[in-house]
Amino acid sequence: MADEHRQLTSHVHGEARLDIGIEGQDMVLELESPAMDILGFEHEPASEAEHKKAHEAEEQLRSADALFTLPENAQCKLTAAEVKAGGGTHEHEKGGEEGHRDFDAQYAFRCAGGVPGWIEVRLFDTFPSLHRLHVQLAGPKGQKSAVLSAGSNRIEF
Ligand SMILES: [Zn+2]
Repeated sequence: MADEHRQLTSHVHGEARLDIGIEGQDMVLELESPAMDILGFEHEPASEAEHKKAHEAEEQLRSADALFTLPENAQCKLTAAEVKAGGGTHEHEKGGEEGHRDFDAQYAFRCAGGVPGWIEVRLFDTFPSLHRLHVQLAGPKGQKSAVLSAGSNRIEF
């Protein structure tokens, strides 16, 4: 269901999406962001500088510990981090030319201490052109959605 939805929608520069799924001790985060807010451009990297930038951005996106803070008592350990650039091209939400690209990243955590009480998102520090993050949470207490920003970057589970 979520993937279909994603395929159909377009993206808005400055706004990303984060889906959080919690089941038992496992937590999966799925991030989708316009490439513009990760790289500063949306075309395929061409120049050496652009390839270097793309490589650095993928490394930054893989560093989950720098992007997300979880409560220590949950003892969450990152078990997998996958970053994919591309994600198809979209119409721009406000009309205009095609050729937009996304970055998709997926993170898997195992939380030996049980379901974390909250998560703090520090994406806004690493990618300052991102100013809104639409969060959808599905966990043991049901579903919840929130919009986070640099000044309000924590969601309680
Ligand atoms: Zn775009």
